[in-house]
Amino acid sequence: MSVCAVVPAGGSGTRMGGTVPKQFQYLNGKPILYYTLKTLQDCGSIAEIILVVPKNEYEAACTDWLGKPEIVKKIVVGGVKRQDSVYNGFCEVSQDTEIVLVHDGVRPFLSKKMISESIGAAREYGAAITAIPVNDTIKRVDPSGLVSETIDREGLWRVQTPQAFRYSLLQDAFNKAKSESFYGTDEGTLIEYLGEPVKIVEGSEQNIKITRPEDLELSETFVSKAFPEK
Ligand code: C5P
Repeated sequence: MSVCAVVPAGGSGTRMGGTVPKQFQYLNGKPILYYTLKTLQDCGSIAEIILVVPKNEYEAACTDWLGKPEIVKKIVVGGVKRQDSVYNGFCEVSQDTEIVLVHDGVRPFLSKKMISESIGAAREYGAAITAIPVNDTIKRVDPSGLVSETIDREGLWRVQTPQAFRYSLLQDAFNKAKSESFYGTDEGTLIEYLGEPVKIVEGSEQNIKITRPEDLELSETFVSKAFPEK
């Protein structure tokens, strides 16, 4: 049974600065998105990718990315929030797909292990998210900059992508979220909102979301190790 990936790359990347959204900025001679798509293709378990891009990048993206790599089968325009973008991509997934894997375009250092483990856990539990345990001390801070609370970090995890879901479960989750105008910052939250279990799969510190200029500097140190042949 098939696995389809939805890759949201529809953000404007304003925190990065510059005129080009971060997913299209270059890292070691290639756009960040190239590395993300290459790993998704090379893992061998994904049948097709639906790529989601900003409206003003759509035409250029069709020229630059459709079929490159070959499993990029469709490109769609994103929405206002990340969840809207993922939903637009999900609407293009064929209904006989077994598992939908969602992965941020700006996380180029996912591993094949994360992909296979999240697909496996989604088959078993219905929904799986990649995450890493919190090992810093966590405080809540009020708007004046004073600490109001120290939060017990036991059992806290920082959530990443890939996230994988049984097609029908994700469809139910989107339907409920849409009908109740509920928004989450990841699809795992929508499954929780539906009242269904979500399994954790271990991510890595290297699986960063490239968001700020300093993330790009860190990525320079990761990229040649992760993609020695490019
Ligand atoms: O905004 P955030 O950092 O959560 O973005 C995570 C991913 O979601 C990025 O790859 C970004 O391009 C994508 N995104 C999107 N549509 C939006 C906002 C973000 O596809 N409206």
